[in-house]
Amino acid sequence: MSSLPMITLLPDRHARLRAGHPWVYSNEVQMDAAAKALPAGTLVRLSASNGQRLGTALFNPHTLVAARIVSRDDIDSLDTDFLTARLRRALALRETLFDAPYYRLVHAEADGLPGTVIDRYGDVLVVQLNTAGIAQHQDALLNALDGLFAPRAIVLRNDTPARGTEGLEEEVIVARGALAGPIEIIENGSRFQVDVLGGQKTGWFFDQRDNRAAVARLARGKTVLDLFCYGGGFGIQAAVAGAAGVVLADSSKPALDRAMISAGLNDVGANVSTAAGDAFRTLDRLESLGERFGIVVADPPAFAKSRKDVPAALQAYRKLARQAAKLVAPDGFLFIASCSHNIETEAFADAVRGGLSRAERNGRILLSSGAASDHPVHPFLPESAYLKAMLLQLD
Ligand code: SAH
Repeated sequence: MSSLPMITLLPDRHARLRAGHPWVYSNEVQMDAAAKALPAGTLVRLSASNGQRLGTALFNPHTLVAARIVSRDDIDSLDTDFLTARLRRALALRETLFDAPYYRLVHAEADGLPGTVIDRYGDVLVVQLNTAGIAQHQDALLNALDGLFAPRAIVLRNDTPARGTEGLEEEVIVARGALAGPIEIIENGSRFQVDVLGGQKTGWFFDQRDNRAAVARLARGKTVLDLFCYGGGFGIQAAVAGAAGVVLADSSKPALDRAMISAGLNDVGANVSTAAGDAFRTLDRLESLGERFGIVVADPPAFAKSRKDVPAALQAYRKLARQAAKLVAPDGFLFIASCSHNIETEAFADAVRGGLSRAERNGRILLSSGAASDHPVHPFLPESAYLKAMLLQLD
């Protein structure tokens, strides 16, 4: 007999969960005194109001998403064995997809581990625990990772904004093993230095892997402007593919410094230069100088951090598309992306169209894409497909 607490849904509120959605909202459960008193992150049983069992979930009485399902069956604990099985499945998929160990290993709900992000950098694993539920099971998860990978180090990059809403502290620590200094990865055949402790997010944006390859395929002999370049993933892979010259632009000096180190690792340093500062100003300056590029890449940070930012963000994407399009040489290419959860694909495409029209440019869409397949999307959480990207040729 399991001793897990039972959370009962309100009458007629179980259909979405039964259909396959992984969440129950706080206004869908009987939030009685016992439920309210449960510590954030408690493992619970879920039942419909008619007594039908719905599975096992991680519960937080204080958040809008009150329960995140971990199994449609009755399980008794989220122990190392259970977590190891989930990790094995996630690993098997990545080993099918990739021949080198550099990827997002776990992408939260889509990999059956709510609130959990794990990026694999060879023998270094970087973990983000974004909900109280998985944070409660941190030790079991670290043990499971240790058992499966025997990694050199496991870093907890628990400095995400999501932790605040879950009532969790922010921290960055080397939880297992030891790590001093940056590490190196290989992506699409190019080498990159990555700072998993001090870099942005977990240190590298694996989500753009396929889009970087798509841009690199066009790059031979062209000049490339890589705006919001971070570690130089787009620009350096273009340089390796034979670009005539690459300008890496970012407001972060440490990001540009590291990108230049990576350029050197690939012997393309002589073809790569940097422009530090605000990307919109860089665009203004290059335009006033009459510069044109064979390829312009614009992959900015999320302009809409929340729903209320959406109108201003759409305006910013339109402006970025306009300014970037102006710098594309005739028959050149524009790659533009949005990683804002709150911006929908059609709204983003519309903003890009608006920018093109203001720049008096037209052309053809070659690719509309999203994140690479190590960032799978839960079929019932289509909104978790946060990355929208378009590759166009402009007349
Ligand atoms: N294109 C990158 C990821 C971009 S992340 C890749 O392929 O990995 C967003 C980047 O934009 C960060 O490096 C951040 O430093 C930079 N950034 C944020 N605001 C900026 C601004 N106003 N001007 C230029 N860069 C900016």
